[in-house]
Amino acid sequence: MLGSKYSLACALITLMSGASSVSAFAPAKSFVRQSLSTLNAEAINDNVSQTEDTKRGKVMTFSYDMSMEPKYEKPTYPGTGNGLSGDEGEYDVIVIGSGMGGLSCGAISAKYGDKVLVLESHIKCGGSAHTFSRMHNGGKYSFEVGPSIFEGLDRPSLNPLRMIFDLLDEQMPVETYTGLGYWTPEGYWRFPIGSKQTFEDLLMERADDGPKAVAEWNALRNRLKTLGGSTTAVSLLNLRQDPGFLATTAGSLPFVLTHPDVFLDLNLTFDSLHKTVDQIVTDPFLLNFIDTMCIFCGFPAKGAMTAHMLYILERFFEEGACYSVPVGGTCALGDTLVRGLEKFGGKIQLNAHVDEIIVEDGRATGVRLKNGKIVKANKAVVSNATPFDTIKMLGTEQELPSEVQTWKDELGKLPRHGAIMHLFIAIDAKDLDLSHIEDPAHLVIQDWDRSMQDSQNLCSFFIPSILDKSLCPEGKHVIHVYSSGGEPYEPWEKLKPGSEEYEAYKEDRAQILWQAVERCIPDVRERVEFSIIGSPLAHEAFLRRDRGTYGMAWAAGKGAPQSGLLSSVIPFPFPNLKTPVDGLLRCGDSCFPGIGTPSAAASGAICANTMNPVGKHLDMLEEASKRDPMYKFLNPGFLGRVYQPLVEGMTPSTELKVEESQQA
Ligand SMILES: Cc1cc2nc3c(=O)[nH]c(=O)nc-3n(C[C@H](O)[C@H](O)[C@H](O)COP(=O)(O)OP(=O)(O)OC[C@H]3O[C@@H](n4cnc5c(N)ncnc54)[C@H](O)[C@@H]3O)c2cc1C
Repeated sequence: MLGSKYSLACALITLMSGASSVSAFAPAKSFVRQSLSTLNAEAINDNVSQTEDTKRGKVMTFSYDMSMEPKYEKPTYPGTGNGLSGDEGEYDVIVIGSGMGGLSCGAISAKYGDKVLVLESHIKCGGSAHTFSRMHNGGKYSFEVGPSIFEGLDRPSLNPLRMIFDLLDEQMPVETYTGLGYWTPEGYWRFPIGSKQTFEDLLMERADDGPKAVAEWNALRNRLKTLGGSTTAVSLLNLRQDPGFLATTAGSLPFVLTHPDVFLDLNLTFDSLHKTVDQIVTDPFLLNFIDTMCIFCGFPAKGAMTAHMLYILERFFEEGACYSVPVGGTCALGDTLVRGLEKFGGKIQLNAHVDEIIVEDGRATGVRLKNGKIVKANKAVVSNATPFDTIKMLGTEQELPSEVQTWKDELGKLPRHGAIMHLFIAIDAKDLDLSHIEDPAHLVIQDWDRSMQDSQNLCSFFIPSILDKSLCPEGKHVIHVYSSGGEPYEPWEKLKPGSEEYEAYKEDRAQILWQAVERCIPDVRERVEFSIIGSPLAHEAFLRRDRGTYGMAWAAGKGAPQSGLLSSVIPFPFPNLKTPVDGLLRCGDSCFPGIGTPSAAASGAICANTMNPVGKHLDMLEEASKRDPMYKFLNPGFLGRVYQPLVEGMTPSTELKVEESQQA
């Protein structure tokens, strides 16, 4: 959520680990698929049992062994498309999926001059960030299915998504607000952003010992100051996964020379944030607050990568920082990126589900659509689908080399977050007094002693129509309520959508979401025009994410599988965006820097940069740096051009190089 999570240290390590993992195919070995009969998910995991007693401090992840169920797939829901569109063709780059990662990758690749096709399974673009509408009594009501909290979209900022909009020269109108409403066991309070002082005032008011809490807060910020400061030394958009990064990040040299301690904190950057927090912070209110700030990335402070908090610590307290509501709905994010894609000659095809990534002689050469048609990719295929959905597209009909099979198996077993429960409510706002709240976005916690990953403990609600009147008829409001990503999937899997049992279970699990809104609008149930409960099965179908997962969940502290050679030295918590299949890359929120729209967009930009020569990347950074004084830091300047000839021949890396004659 929120903002980008990044530091110079992260960047350098990512790049080094990425550069070191450029791989070619291992000799082919036959692929022995395990029998489906060996599958007994409940016997091999504690996905459900762990959620039954969720003590605070317990870190919950969910896991499945997808090698045992390579075809695991749910039918698509009506309203999301049958996935049967799409034509044959030939492109430089095919991107599977139009989430923030896929669209950013597609649009920037198109700007670099690649002939790009984005293939989206759903009838709408945006992935998790799409909007759906329902007609009711002749009026249109629009709801978000996913993200609602966006910082740094209102003006040129360090949010990579905003930087990409500016790079594409595309505007997205927003309304703004300056806080998050919190409904906790102690009552209602507000987390204000955009002012250091107002946050300290909150600590003085709410903490047991105000002055001590303020001192601890400032000590934590000071401890992470150098790492946080590096976010303005080099940006995520400067990154690429090949030796070209030496040129594109060269502008950070003055910062590194003046802040050599940044290197001493390399491990800390990737480590679990709680290790630093626990050394400095003792105030319970502050500890709770820090956990809630982390939870949008999936984990509380225990399990969250320290880098997640750096942006928040640095930027949220700067004068003028605010949240945005995209006018017209969150779908505006995707629409803006699509305009950028098409402006540079790229195309998007909706309702085009990819069944298979075609691999020939060790190289991804295209995709087979659900309708059977083949689309060729001369340079690369990029999957924006989750790792769990990506591996379903590989090896359905081919035999895979052992190296690829290992990669597939490891990705398929990665721990992940659980699913999400949704409640969409349209209400009549006649005589509704909302003067006791200031913001559209709210967080609700039932019990501080229970895990924040517990879907029956923490949830959020969002009333965008407070600021954006275009989302529903006058005098009404639309509300999206959603649980944390800790809803176990297994009980849902056993139920048939539409059955009495399923409907009853939906009602039961959604009670907590109703109660959350009741804290703010006590008579919400009497005001209902209509409501829809979205189960994990619906989440899975609408967001096209295996078992409705909130995302990959590698708890910080040790290197993730397939994260590159340096992972034995540095705990880099993401599998690489490069894969053992030449010409196949990944982007999205399971890649560095993780969950959230800014991060997913950044991963798409890193992917596009990696597929192009360093010279083009430097040109793009120079151009971007002229768009606004705040983007000056993007330009690596003279030093970048000095390094360019040294690394140019190695960019893009060999497996991504395409002969001119092959270029589509
Ligand atoms: C309920 C909820 C609340 C959130 N709140 C916030 C928030 O407040 N702020 C924030 O910044 N982030 C938030 N997030 C996280 C954020 O939305 C995601 O991390 C981000 O949008 C994910 O982008 P992505 O690029 O990884 O891809 P996704 O959004 O997952 O998109 C992947 C796309 O690939 C497509 N696809 C998959 N398989 C295929 C196939 N075989 N063929 C073709 N297409 C395919 C899918 O249909 C999808 O469109 C929230 C997420 C959820 C679910």
